[in-house]
Amino acid sequence: MPHYAIPQHVFAGKNALEEAASYIKKCGRSPLIVTGKHVGKSPMYEKLTRILEQEEITYRTFDGITGEPTDKMIEEGLSLYRESSCDFVIGIGGGSPLDSAKAIAAMSVSPGEISDYMGKEITGEIPAIVAIPTTAGTGSEATKFTIITDQGKDIKMLLKGERLIPKLAIIDPDFSMDMPKSVSAATGLDAFTHAVEAYTSRKAFSLTDTLAVSAVKRILRYLPAVYQNGYDTKAREEMAIAALEAGICINNSSVTIVHGMSRPIGALFHVPHGLSNAMLLNECIGFALDGAYERFADLGRASGAADGTDSDQVAAEKFLNKIEELCSICEVPTLKEYGIEKEVYFAAVDKMASDAIASGSPANTRKEVTKEDCMEIYRKLYVNTEN
Ligand SMILES: [Zn+2]
Repeated sequence: MPHYAIPQHVFAGKNALEEAASYIKKCGRSPLIVTGKHVGKSPMYEKLTRILEQEEITYRTFDGITGEPTDKMIEEGLSLYRESSCDFVIGIGGGSPLDSAKAIAAMSVSPGEISDYMGKEITGEIPAIVAIPTTAGTGSEATKFTIITDQGKDIKMLLKGERLIPKLAIIDPDFSMDMPKSVSAATGLDAFTHAVEAYTSRKAFSLTDTLAVSAVKRILRYLPAVYQNGYDTKAREEMAIAALEAGICINNSSVTIVHGMSRPIGALFHVPHGLSNAMLLNECIGFALDGAYERFADLGRASGAADGTDSDQVAAEKFLNKIEELCSICEVPTLKEYGIEKEVYFAAVDKMASDAIASGSPANTRKEVTKEDCMEIYRKLYVNTEN
């Protein structure tokens, strides 16, 4: 049964933060701002704190998110949240601070350790979550998911709960203007992966289909533009909307094989999330293609890569070529170029395949995916791009 869940309020566009001020005030008395060191010193952070001061909201800031979040960072943030008697959270930055804000909010009312909640639904009266993305990619502002690395086990834990969907999502494209080229590419390709996976997931349905097709079209058109010129305002706006659309899609129809296989590469080799997705896109979608020619063909036709005269199979293959072209424009590195040693990587293939299957995401693909299939794809991924 399709179930569609989205943030309670979305403010998207120029001056979104000013417009949302009175709604932030309604979230509680005293927020913990969760961010990283870099964003914590940026004009957008200053703008946020200025608005909070104008609204007479007392806040505390935790800027200890130094990369993709770990259980340890969440514990530190949680201590500050408790010490300061905060009663809601504001995540500002890329996917990492947003995911961290969600995890801190969840753990503020949940007993035990964060790893206890892996694979379970997080429930309880979770404080309000305000999400202010500054990259156009993860879509975390619209999802019930948070990905936290268990440092002891080298696993990226996928944690979820309806109550982790932010109450307020505030998307001001101006905030993404200064993103470095490589981050624009990785986060944009993450959003692209979300849209493609959501459209071809077993859980896809009409409402997510509409947004997925829209996001795919926007990203194919505007990601090359932001990659070439980060100050292209129109392209930044379109990418911010596409990331939100794609985030809503995965919240409601899930990701599939690419994300399932991407998390283990990120956990073991510290490849940023969007980049490990991008590295896998061609090989994984190539594998999934014959399980859903008609779905991939729709994307091929909608994006202009194919037309009505092409059969589903041909249109799907043309879409796959389009994916390859996008990755090449965005200069996605290979595993080897990223500095991952072949022997170390091959030694990890078995564990990565087990972790990928255990995450549950590959099972949403419209084709059966076994552990052996994952192992084969991981191996091919290195060998086929080695030279
Ligand atoms: Zn993602």
